[in-house]
Amino acid sequence: MAVIIDGKKVATSLLENLKLKVQQSEKKPGLAVILANNDASSKIYVSNKEKQSLALGFKSSVYIFDKSTTQGQLIKLIHELNENEQINGILVQLPLFDHLDANQIIELINPKKDVDGFHPINVGKLNCGLKPYATCCTPKGIIKLLKAYNIELEGKNAVVIGRSNIVGKPTATLLTNENATVTLAHSKTKDLKSITKNADIIISATGSPKLIKADMVKKGAVVVDVGIVRQFDKSLVGDVDFEKVKKIASYITPVPGGVGPMTIACLMENTWELFLEQNKNNAKF
Ligand code: NAP
Repeated sequence: MAVIIDGKKVATSLLENLKLKVQQSEKKPGLAVILANNDASSKIYVSNKEKQSLALGFKSSVYIFDKSTTQGQLIKLIHELNENEQINGILVQLPLFDHLDANQIIELINPKKDVDGFHPINVGKLNCGLKPYATCCTPKGIIKLLKAYNIELEGKNAVVIGRSNIVGKPTATLLTNENATVTLAHSKTKDLKSITKNADIIISATGSPKLIKADMVKKGAVVVDVGIVRQFDKSLVGDVDFEKVKKIASYITPVPGGVGPMTIACLMENTWELFLEQNKNNAKF
């Protein structure tokens, strides 16, 4: 039976350490969050980010836009936040309303304030094996979780299922940078089972409930479930058939309580790290 990886516990410990550092700092980090869509989940994510920021002693600013918002208004706000010394991290909650161009907005964020690590400069740094100003939160959280459980990555066969810019691709890059041998699978992959069956580490980020069945998993594999889908009865399910796979895996993350708490904890850590970087020549903070 697999060890259940407790993401909540690891995230709580990370946040407690962070809170102590913030308490000892005279100046406090500032995080700006922009919401420009009507999506119910996005509203919950933004509210949770604000609550967590305030709990740590950060300054939190949330900007909510309605459907009449223009690209120009968002561009103006990004320019203002880039110049605002009280703001160390800028987060644009995705997706935006359909008429808005998210890529253009993200490219306008100062990479040193790009707390999500989505700016092409930060993505490029990650791909070059250089340290980005910020690393995408969910992939960073996954690696931290594996390391918290002393799970060896070097030389392991890893498969990442899902190739989005925010989860799949950067997770594959981080694993490669940790010297794992990585396969990046997606919806056009043929015979996924033959790939997962050979993997020491399976990271699934598709949003396709119970995609990963017990017969797709090698005995003793480590299984990380990034997927979150809310069902009709409001319960959350992941990509992995948890009850059956946990009998075969050596370690497994639950949904909820696995990767999710690490994502928000890493967002807070990123805000703190950007704050330190922006104040590194200022002895008083
Ligand atoms: P996304 O942009 O929709 O990407 C999904 C990826 O999965 C795509 O690359 C897609 O392939 C692939 N895929 C879909 N169905 C598949 C299948 N049956 N077999 C193989 N590949 C399949 O989603 P995302 O933003 O990366 O998020 C993925 C999931 O993680 C969602 O459930 C999301 O809610 C969750 N999530 C969780 C956290 C967290 O903190 N826990 C954070 C972010 C996202 P194609 O590219 O070929 O279409």
